Amino acid sequence: MTAGAANNGDQRFLDWLDTNRARLLGELGDLIRIPSVSALPAHRADMVNAANWVAARLRAAGVPQVEVLPTDGHPAVLGEWPAADPDAPTALIYAHYDTQPADPFDEWETPPFEPHERDGRLYARGASDDKGNLLIPVAVAEAFGHLAGQPPLGLIFFFEGEEEIGSPNLRPFLAAHRDRLRADVAISADSGMWSHEQPSLVLASKGLAGVQLDARGANGDIHSGLHGGMAPNPLGALATVLASMKDADGRITIDGFFDDVRPLTELERAEIAAVPFDETEYGRGLGIAGPVGDPAYSPLERNWARPTFDLNGIWGGFQGVGSKTVIPAEAHAKITCRLVPDQDPGAIIAAIARHVATHTPPGVTITIDPTAGSSRAYAIDSQHPALLAARDIMSAEYGRDPYMVRLGGTLPVAEFFKTDLGLDTIFLAWEMPDENLHGPNEFFRLENFDRGFRVYTELFKRLPKS
Ligand SMILES: [Zn+2]
Repeated sequence: MTAGAANNGDQRFLDWLDTNRARLLGELGDLIRIPSVSALPAHRADMVNAANWVAARLRAAGVPQVEVLPTDGHPAVLGEWPAADPDAPTALIYAHYDTQPADPFDEWETPPFEPHERDGRLYARGASDDKGNLLIPVAVAEAFGHLAGQPPLGLIFFFEGEEEIGSPNLRPFLAAHRDRLRADVAISADSGMWSHEQPSLVLASKGLAGVQLDARGANGDIHSGLHGGMAPNPLGALATVLASMKDADGRITIDGFFDDVRPLTELERAEIAAVPFDETEYGRGLGIAGPVGDPAYSPLERNWARPTFDLNGIWGGFQGVGSKTVIPAEAHAKITCRLVPDQDPGAIIAAIARHVATHTPPGVTITIDPTAGSSRAYAIDSQHPALLAARDIMSAEYGRDPYMVRLGGTLPVAEFFKTDLGLDTIFLAWEMPDENLHGPNEFFRLENFDRGFRVYTELFKRLPKS
């Protein structure tokens, strides 16, 4: 796709948006005024009100089957608009109607749950993450209803109310409603773009495996004069073990750690290389000389597409002022690894345990316990037909090709859709990196409501059946 292609635009849809924009943005304001803060028990009734509001909005858009469904926490909203043509694809549209808390309140220039427009930006908690973005595909479905009778594909809207608290009831919900969530692809309306000028599509996110190591020596802290040279030192033993897990260049040296890692393909390396990364700028931003790590890979390759290993904490022994001639009885460390596709958190934890067992010095025992939060990585084939359709549409919309990015962090929802529903996920939303998501003075660029409307309109027309 060449840059500078014609803008997306079916004139009837653009006219419909012109006619309805003020009403749609007014409705966004109504949703924002419901303070649906999932983390705070005081907002429990607001959560129910917001779920009901979203359900009513889907019905008003023409979605024929809409339900608010209970979970063990906040309710979820499910809207189904089956395709007229049995050969048409079905998309599962995901977003969340809950928000982060708004405190500290006194840092907001205008009240967080009262939307204010300034310079084309709508300021409010949830304006961008995720209420503004949630309403884009709903508005597009409504436009299709008015202009064509119904959308040209099947749509399942699935909006949860617990994203900002880690989606604790998402997997049970997916299991309970599996049959109603059958689709060809998932589209998440909870995501961002590289920048306001530069579009991007997400190809992968990392998984996570974490452990705590507990090293023990003697049955109590002991005197280094009485016992030095004879008694084991668990703090030293732990340091020895930890130091053996990476070499001086930062390569991970744990046996079996890379067993399931697919080598990067030439295409993948080219996709990553197409995204600019300024090593000097990176170093300056962090006050370091520059990025470090396995020299066989570029910094972005290491962050995005290679597994990582980090010590997150280490403690033990005497930490007060001055010195104390003690040989401590115990020492501890916490480790997390960010994983790439095909790596299994359990297998990684087992590899760490084997490494610890074979590297622990005599006289010390080190036990290893997994910490909560393990997950597998997510990835979509960069040649996935739905992703290619989105890529073409974005190229036309922006006049430049999207960066195909990977995330060093974790996107649990995509992994759950893949594992539990067998669905690949495309991320298509406009929560921009500078829009103060989760902080005071969150805002949403209203220009992106129009842009999102055009992109979703095209995607609904062109989404291939998989
Ligand atoms: Zn969000």
